[in-house]
Amino acid sequence: MSDIKKVVIIGSGPAGLTAALYTARANLNPLVYEGIQPGGQLTITTEVENFPGFEHGIMGPELMETMRKQVKRFGAELLPQEVVSIDFSKRPFRLLDSKKNEIFAETIIIATGAKAKLLNLPSEKEYMGYGVSACATCDGFFYRGLKVLVVGGGDTAMEEANFLTKFASEVVLVHRRNEFRASKIMQDKVKANNKVSYLLDSVIEEVVGETKDGKKYVTGAKIKNVKTGETSLIKCDGIFMAIGHEPNTTLFKGALDMDETGYIITKPKSTATNVPGVFACGDVQDHYYRQAITAAGSGCMSAIDAERFIDHNPL
Ligand code: NDP
Repeated sequence: MSDIKKVVIIGSGPAGLTAALYTARANLNPLVYEGIQPGGQLTITTEVENFPGFEHGIMGPELMETMRKQVKRFGAELLPQEVVSIDFSKRPFRLLDSKKNEIFAETIIIATGAKAKLLNLPSEKEYMGYGVSACATCDGFFYRGLKVLVVGGGDTAMEEANFLTKFASEVVLVHRRNEFRASKIMQDKVKANNKVSYLLDSVIEEVVGETKDGKKYVTGAKIKNVKTGETSLIKCDGIFMAIGHEPNTTLFKGALDMDETGYIITKPKSTATNVPGVFACGDVQDHYYRQAITAAGSGCMSAIDAERFIDHNPL
């Protein structure tokens, strides 16, 4: 146990990198496990207009690359790997990573974020990446001049539907109710966009597709009207799932207190979890605000919480 890290940060979105920035500047030499999507969800977004300091907005990937460089300047160590197990039972905590390295940590900051939810249809799984997507900003480009469906009725669905009209000739919003939960401003934007039409009270029962020259394509979706029970086949070239997100907390199940949807519970006005020395920040503990700036803010809180914890609880 020769090498005990003061702080290990799991996750490299705005929360993880802000925690890294603050702990690095506090001379705690943080080790950051960047995970399978370094930079987190902002790396699959386009323009970010609501992160203060960027008068004309900034592209999500550029914002994250800039944060990364800033963090490295202060000596944080960034590893493009995942943590696969953690023993939370005693300090220093023992972690194993995907390269089978064993790491010990005085404190852990969890910033693993959240990921898109799916419908869990076998056909959705079959065509994922072949016409089914959960990220309009990543895949919208492939649908130039084509017709796509967007599933969902929240802000994400509105945002994705609007964004996709930059490429697609037609976007159909498929929603299971006849009311949207999205904010009025987002709904208004979509309503003003004449490329978007609606299929309400409707759910996708099956993604329909075919294989041509060994490659799979989506050709449509079997839709059921939940009020009448009628089913119909709607033709389309792509389907974007925009039905919310779930936190990346599988690794911590059973060890950390979570709410019924799997978000880590932190103490009020703190980022402390139920395990002393373990802190959580960003979307992994916040299903309400979910903004880059709130994630960054809670990353800062985690760093200060970890620093004070180390001061008051020397090993
Ligand atoms: P939400 O949970 O707000 O909405 C999910 C939508 O998907 C709901 O309309 C829900 O239907 C529908 N849905 C959920 N599960 C299924 C299912 N199995 N089958 C069919 N439909 C389903 O998630 P969002 O990702 O849209 O938003 C999350 C948070 O992020 C919100 O607080 C939102 O305001 C925020 N956000 C803000 C943005 C911005 O301000 N620019 C952009 C994107 C998100 P139902 O309504 O019937 O429950």
